[in-house]
Amino acid sequence: MKQRNMLSGEFNNSEDEREITLRPRLLADFQGQQEIKDNLSVFIKAALNRKESLDHVFISGPPGLGKTTLAGILAHEMGVPFKVTSAPAMDKPKDLAGLLTTIEERTVFFIDEIHRLKPAIEEMLYVGMEDFELDWIIGQGPSARTIRIPVPPFTLIGATTKAGQVASPLYSRFGITLRINFYGEKEIQQVIRRSAGILDIQIDEPAVLFLAKCSRGTPRVANRLLKRMRDFAEVLAEGVVTLETVKDGLDRLDIDNVGLESHDREILRVIIENYGGGPVGAETLAISIGEGIESLEDFYEPFLIQRGLLKRTPRGRMATPRAYKHLGLSRKGNENQGILL
Ligand code: ADP
Repeated sequence: MKQRNMLSGEFNNSEDEREITLRPRLLADFQGQQEIKDNLSVFIKAALNRKESLDHVFISGPPGLGKTTLAGILAHEMGVPFKVTSAPAMDKPKDLAGLLTTIEERTVFFIDEIHRLKPAIEEMLYVGMEDFELDWIIGQGPSARTIRIPVPPFTLIGATTKAGQVASPLYSRFGITLRINFYGEKEIQQVIRRSAGILDIQIDEPAVLFLAKCSRGTPRVANRLLKRMRDFAEVLAEGVVTLETVKDGLDRLDIDNVGLESHDREILRVIIENYGGGPVGAETLAISIGEGIESLEDFYEPFLIQRGLLKRTPRGRMATPRAYKHLGLSRKGNENQGILL
């Protein structure tokens, strides 16, 4: 997991430093997501021509798909400072005010997990986004009054894994809204080739293709697996990552041929074996597999749903016929145990 000092935006361990070297700095280095890149390059050019800050940008999508990276690229392409924080790191309106009153003009101000803003901070942000001013309350009780403090014009980039939980008054204040979806296999192959080049990892083409299949359509996962495959290749083989290294390495990491980790399979197995295929509520499911509901909903489920292995229904989560097939379990078996599917 990424460890970041949320208020300064600085990374603080060596794994993260390496992540920074892999993080594309230019739109042209950002692999895949062509439609998003095409639109953004127009908006960047237009804002630069008008010498204005870029309109506020809302980015949603599962973790590891490049939301933070894209925000950094926007700052870099606009030639302005990049300031990073996350909603849970801000406790009181004064934390937001402290950040916004000290930024340089046109700064790209990135708030991760924006669906978790506290209501008082969110309200302060509304005025900040629209008027580049903050409402500040002085005094208490009947003598309290509000003054408006100007802040430099800035671009807010709000990122979230849960677009549905963002209040509509906040959502409607973003001029540009982007949804990043899982990457296709070809796009992930490009990510792997680029990262292998930067990290000086020798990997042959069949290995790239296989690794891309097993990377959950997620650049962060692809980079992580690539580094682990390098470890296996260096210690157990001749240093070159081959198809054999990848197959053996993924096997050792308990990752199967469509990229499911043991926890993914456990989720499906629990739904099928303990709850007759579902529906089962998310909280019950999270407890059954010993995970937090956040990581179940944000990390595991989106990929299982995208792969057609899991369904979210109003009554809970259900395993699909494809999940039974993938795990080699029979639906009949469950019916015989008296559990309705
Ligand atoms: P998010 O903020 O959505 O969780 P990040 O922006 O932190 O995801 O991306 C995770 C890692 O994946 C980054 O370190 C970056 O190196 C890599 N990455 C993400 N998107 C891309 C991309 N389109 N091209 C190349 N690398 C990418």
